[in-house]
Amino acid sequence: MKIRVEALKHLSHFSENFLSQYAKNRNFDFGKNKRDNTSCLSKYITHRVIDELEVIQSAHSKYPYTTVEKFIQEVCWRTYWKGWLELRPNVWKSYRDDLLKLQDEKKNTSYLNAIHGATSVECFNDWVNELKETGYLHNHARMWFASIWIFTLKLPWQLGADFFLKHLLDGDAASNTLSWRWVAGLQTKGKHYLATSWNINKFSAKKYDNLKLNEKANSLFESNNFTPIPLHFDKTENDNSLFLAHNLDSSYLLKHTKKMFSHYALFDFNKVLENESYSKKVIDFKAQINFEILEQIKNDFQSNLILDNADGLFKIVEEKNIKSIIMPYLACGYENDFINELREKIRIFYLARDYDQFCFPFSTKGFFAFKDQIHKILTKFL
Ligand SMILES: Cc1cc2nc3c(=O)[nH]c(=O)nc-3n(C[C@H](O)[C@H](O)[C@H](O)COP(=O)(O)OP(=O)(O)OC[C@H]3O[C@@H](n4cnc5c(N)ncnc54)[C@H](O)[C@@H]3O)c2cc1C
Repeated sequence: MKIRVEALKHLSHFSENFLSQYAKNRNFDFGKNKRDNTSCLSKYITHRVIDELEVIQSAHSKYPYTTVEKFIQEVCWRTYWKGWLELRPNVWKSYRDDLLKLQDEKKNTSYLNAIHGATSVECFNDWVNELKETGYLHNHARMWFASIWIFTLKLPWQLGADFFLKHLLDGDAASNTLSWRWVAGLQTKGKHYLATSWNINKFSAKKYDNLKLNEKANSLFESNNFTPIPLHFDKTENDNSLFLAHNLDSSYLLKHTKKMFSHYALFDFNKVLENESYSKKVIDFKAQINFEILEQIKNDFQSNLILDNADGLFKIVEEKNIKSIIMPYLACGYENDFINELREKIRIFYLARDYDQFCFPFSTKGFFAFKDQIHKILTKFL
């Protein structure tokens, strides 16, 4: 896969030249033309063009642990968020329900000004434009953006999370929803993140005079308590099965090249995401990955079958007398919601990676408790 070669090159260039200084420099947003103090690997990792373990392994093999500890912890934040949401899928459901209720708010001038970068907060407008242009924002800018959206512009956090998810090339239901909740003070109850003019001017390359931010706001509050539900991972059945590859685990088949299933196809979720108004930039990026997965299925399994809707899938199931569908694990998100509806009509099994099965159950509490397990994770997988 060309995109995987690109990602691996990027990882190696970052590791050799910038990783050793990551802990010291990572909080600075030097602007869109100087993005080498963090890895910028997130768009690849979200789609598992390269996976978390490969990234951790690469860092671990090049430097003493203390040099790369911070970087490995950041990669583990992703795993932690994913596990946390898998254990509490109702948080995603409640977010989607809220979005439905908030549709009318999207007509309000304050919301429209925000998404068009036409507010009175100059830095915020810059980030809106950067996000639309590049599909990326630095982590610190994401925190400032979310804080200003919630506490200065006083817009519903769910609409901000929605705007991010649909414009970020690395858009990930867990990292995104839970980071927005964290900024709002819902994730760690009562502990919100307040962007300050001082902090923005210290860490951002561009300096902003006269930023008028609400630096004294109270945390948001919700009455729901989301308790963890034990995780269950499917055991697959291979009887005349159809394997559906998808771009949220793009490298799955690279690691499973032996023919295990009777039929192979690509499931293209872009129609599902277009219905949810994902940006063209994100859709195009996903289309590029899909194209390469399809090439691989053609080469390795002599199939050029693409499916992108329920009717097409049911037609193939009938024609080929498919008994079960197998796909790489889909975590909470629009793609999983779509497949879950079909699961009522046909047997669909998710294949979870060993890494996810091992790590997700550690997300029962806060990140500090998860962090204590990192040595166990490294011992098991490195
Ligand atoms: C409001 C908000 C929304 C966010 N939405 C997303 C999202 O949709 N998708 C996404 O991948 N990340 C999201 N993040 C987390 C983080 O901002 C990005 O992962 C990071 O900026 C990506 O840049 P990088 O690859 O250079 O990261 P690096 O600093 O180089 O980190 C290496 C890798 O670790 C992971 N990582 C780093 N920081 C975090 C973090 N705080 N949480 C989870 N994973 C992390 C990413 O996979 C990243 O590629 C969000 C953060 C905030 C505050």
